[in-house]
Amino acid sequence: MTVTLEREGAIVVFKRVPDDVCENCGEYYLSDEVTGELLERAEKAITSGAEIEIRRYAA
Ligand SMILES: [Zn+2]
Repeated sequence: MTVTLEREGAIVVFKRVPDDVCENCGEYYLSDEVTGELLERAEKAITSGAEIEIRRYAA
């Protein structure tokens, strides 16, 4: 799935983020591991100074 994060006025878009589907309600969600990784990467992306960054999550 594509995830958009806003941090300190900058927007970071991550494409191809691995997601899971809840077996009960069928909604998509991100694991704690992926969520933590996203926040970490967003911080790094923003230090580049760009107002918007589009990145591919998957290697
Ligand atoms: Zn659910």
